[in-house]
Amino acid sequence: MDKIIVVGAGMAGSEAAWQAASRGIKVDLYEMRPVKNTPAHKTDLFAELVCSNSLRGAGLENAVGVLKEEMRRLGSIIMEAADATKVPAGGALAVDRLGFSRYITEKVTNHPLINVIHRELEEIPYEDNAVTIVASGPLTEGKLAEKIGELMGQEYLYFYDAAAPIVTLESIDMTKAWKASRYGKGEAAYINCSMNKEEYHKFWTELVNSEKAPTHNFEKEKFFEGCMPVEEMASRGEDTLLFGPLKPVGLENPADGKLPYAVVQLRQDNADGTLYNIVGFQTHLKWPEQRRVFGMIPGLENAEFVRYGVMHRNTFINSPETMRPTMQFKDNDHLFFAGQMTGVEGYVESASSGLVAGINAARICKGLEPVVFPQETAHGSLCHYITTAPAKHFQPMNVNFGIMSPIKEKIRDKKLKKQRIAERALTTLEEFKQGI
Ligand code: FAD
Repeated sequence: MDKIIVVGAGMAGSEAAWQAASRGIKVDLYEMRPVKNTPAHKTDLFAELVCSNSLRGAGLENAVGVLKEEMRRLGSIIMEAADATKVPAGGALAVDRLGFSRYITEKVTNHPLINVIHRELEEIPYEDNAVTIVASGPLTEGKLAEKIGELMGQEYLYFYDAAAPIVTLESIDMTKAWKASRYGKGEAAYINCSMNKEEYHKFWTELVNSEKAPTHNFEKEKFFEGCMPVEEMASRGEDTLLFGPLKPVGLENPADGKLPYAVVQLRQDNADGTLYNIVGFQTHLKWPEQRRVFGMIPGLENAEFVRYGVMHRNTFINSPETMRPTMQFKDNDHLFFAGQMTGVEGYVESASSGLVAGINAARICKGLEPVVFPQETAHGSLCHYITTAPAKHFQPMNVNFGIMSPIKEKIRDKKLKKQRIAERALTTLEEFKQGI
């Protein structure tokens, strides 16, 4: 193998191409813009930020801050550009949008080992001596999407995500919530939060009057058949949710042996059992509104949201079924996927998965084994999450402390605990870097 083909010069593809070329490997980088545009991109620049100009929290008290620091230490072009073009944004790292993308476009285009080809690919490109990285993003469609669906099996390719919020187990008040499955079937798999009639009425009133996030024009079509936002369902009548996600049947509260008026269920969301999603709560509510309204659910008053509910256009694959933590496709050592389409969520996460794919594709070209990043690092925890999360309900995920390996020490202070996890991530990354 002496070449890497990258599809898409977005956040993931630009980083993957850069990492591979920095390791001395030739890269053919295919980008369809400006020949063909997506409904969200406005320019022909690489790594265009299609919405916000923020790469979120700058400091190490945020998991995304740790992820960014790891990327810096691994020679990321995305982070080099972000640091060079940052604008004042309090605790966040925000960038001059055009300056950021121009910086990356110039550096990547001028790299002597990267050959940029502006063309829409209609299939996954395979060449005898090349490793392929597909990073065509959350708006992948048309023939390329069809081919990806054929490769994975159509049932493992999705075009929209309808994600319910995810909270950490340790932030759920288990003195109010209890574990049980409906009708006591099987193991007690769900965490249940019950409401009496008065609590339910207050919750329903706030939910139907809550503030919703705006929808992009190209997302306005009706696409969520059978997967309605919880607030939309609530707006059909005060009792509708009681026959839907909040139905109490088969869920007697062990505290008094009675059937509650309404029950919200939370389902385990990661293999380690540290995260739970609120079942049926896919939503368009603005993020602070999710905290406020869903925080009215008894037991979730102080819930820590590691991912808010979203519903948007998003092409992604079922990575727990189809991918390895090296970012390789399960059935082909020479095929990688990277970016939002693998089920990571966000600009930085997309770029970081491109970084892992670029490093590993380059290793294959050099005759080396691809590496799995340690789960103590932010990179490793994301790769681990997307490849081990329960496949049946898989939805994209931001990086967060809840998916990083817990530390052995018992620390009650949340701030200090995060600090320890962050310090350990960076020490582990330094050791890991020596090895690769
Ligand atoms: P992209 O950055 O989209 O890159 C994919 C590239 O592949 C594009 O340049 C595209 O032109 C090219 N391409 C696609 N198909 C082909 C083909 N067939 N042949 C050749 N080239 C092709 N995340 C945030 O953190 N903050 C936000 O504010 C945010 N807002 C978003 C808004 C929208 C509308 C969407 C859809 C997503 C948003 N995201 C946001 C999520 C996500 O982080 C970004 O979409 C991010 O850019 C994903 O990176 P990527 O590399 O996977 O895809």
